[in-house]
Amino acid sequence: QAKHAGKSAYARFTPDMTEVSHERLQMESLMRKALEQGEFELFFQPIVDTTSGRVMAAEALLRWNNPVLGLVMPDRFIPLAEETGLILTIGEWVINEALLEAAHWRREIGLELQVAVNVSPRQFRDAGFLDRISRALEAANMPADTLELEVTERLILDNSIETADILKQLDQRGIRLSVDDFGTGYSALSYLKSYPFNTLKIDKSFVHDVLKEAEDASLVRAIINMAHSLGLRVIAEGVEEEAQSHFLQTEGCDCSQGFFYGRPMSSQAFSHWLQTNGRANKDRFNV
Ligand code: C2E
Ligand code: MG
Ligand code: MG
Ligand code: MG
Repeated sequence: QAKHAGKSAYARFTPDMTEVSHERLQMESLMRKALEQGEFELFFQPIVDTTSGRVMAAEALLRWNNPVLGLVMPDRFIPLAEETGLILTIGEWVINEALLEAAHWRREIGLELQVAVNVSPRQFRDAGFLDRISRALEAANMPADTLELEVTERLILDNSIETADILKQLDQRGIRLSVDDFGTGYSALSYLKSYPFNTLKIDKSFVHDVLKEAEDASLVRAIINMAHSLGLRVIAEGVEEEAQSHFLQTEGCDCSQGFFYGRPMSSQAFSHWLQTNGRANKDRFNV
């Protein structure tokens, strides 16, 4: 068969690879319909003040409920959504929905929480991005500093003037900016000095072994100290145990997020969670 490889490119594909690309095509076409069909849903996970335990914010995490594929987690469809450009419409929906939910917490529960939204590099580079954010804030009638955009170091890696400019404009409009999965990328630390970030989120891989591996403890401690000396707030991700929470408290980590405090929940479950766990926050906001 290989002899005829020049004649047909298919000869190089194994059945497995055909299946993979078939699955991609199927995913893509299902994803195109998902927005109209209302299959996307935002879950919310609390972000708490490490010392007081009070809820300060929530991160919006996307879920896809598809009748054929079942519940699809973001790591399985976001990369494809980025490749195909579908992330632009999906991402716009996410921002609108997250802000409407924050308006609901304020109006119905009396809590002024920030809402953190994950944003892909592709969204940032899109020309209409800033306008869409402004419109979403207006539609929800929420102040700009309600919204915190989470980006990864991947965005900074592209090192473009456009990215730097958009970050600056977002900052000037009062929107908060956060570096997600901090420590897993390859970018030079100098960007922290030149870009207007408010928050660093320590990646959960460091938090996971913070009590077992001295190196991880040193890294977490160093990140907290560095962030504070640059005037940044620090959030530890992936806090699963009380002992990890204690360590973070001792080290002065501002906020924590993880299964120990609360799992990502449907909007309804999160509102319910706030009713019982969020009251203490009522007269306190804006760290
Ligand atoms: P991320 O932004 O770093 O989100 C945190 C991930 O850690 C979430 O996974 C969350 O469920 C999980 N997590 C939270 N607490 C714990 C814990 O204590 N232990 C462990 N082991 N995991 C914990 P999820 O929801 O599967 O999201 C995965 C990634 O998908 C996110 O990572 C984010 O990069 C991306 N993503 C999610 N929603 C969106 C979105 O709306 N837009 C874009 N562009 N990306 C999104
Ligand atoms: Mg995130
Ligand atoms: Mg993260
Ligand atoms: Mg991540």
